[in-house]
Amino acid sequence: MKNPRGERVAVFPGSFDPFTNGHLDIVERSLEIFDRVIVAVAFNAAKDSALFSPQERVEMILEATRTPRVVADAFSGLLVDYVERSGAQSIVRGLRAVADFEYEFQMAMMNRHLRPRIETIFIMASEAHFYTSARLVKEVASLGGDVTGLIPAGVRRRLVRKLKEKTAR
Ligand code: ADP
Repeated sequence: MKNPRGERVAVFPGSFDPFTNGHLDIVERSLEIFDRVIVAVAFNAAKDSALFSPQERVEMILEATRTPRVVADAFSGLLVDYVERSGAQSIVRGLRAVADFEYEFQMAMMNRHLRPRIETIFIMASEAHFYTSARLVKEVASLGGDVTGLIPAGVRRRLVRKLKEKTAR
């Protein structure tokens, strides 16, 4: 599956609130398969309960990836519409435990129903990041736990700052 320019392009969608080393690992593995990867921050303008704004999440992804082969963007609405708009042909998702599978399977089937030509590719998490989730990282950091190694250094600095702002409010 290639675009008219002969490139294989994938969209890696998620909330990325914030971007973790588990996400980074999936991006790096995707670059072995695809020419370009668009890391797409999904947000809901009406009810987004994320800690970071879509713009902050895009900035963190760009800081952590730093290659012209990775683009970061934000979108709302249907994923398959976004994939089409961006000229990609595939969706990449990461799989951690079996617990991810049921939900991922349902979503992949729904997306296939909506756009049969768009393929979802699953990439297994690395052992080192099997237990890393953005939610848990936020929880541990907010309780003062050390999250070094679980998220990129730039993300950690922003997270510490953000949590301080939040408690000061
Ligand atoms: P999270 O579940 O961490 O809040 P997202 O909703 O942003 O993350 O997930 C985006 C994608 O990244 C999903 O496909 C999810 O399964 C995958 N992912 C999240 N954390 C990891 C990890 N530690 N290793 C591999 N894939 C991951």
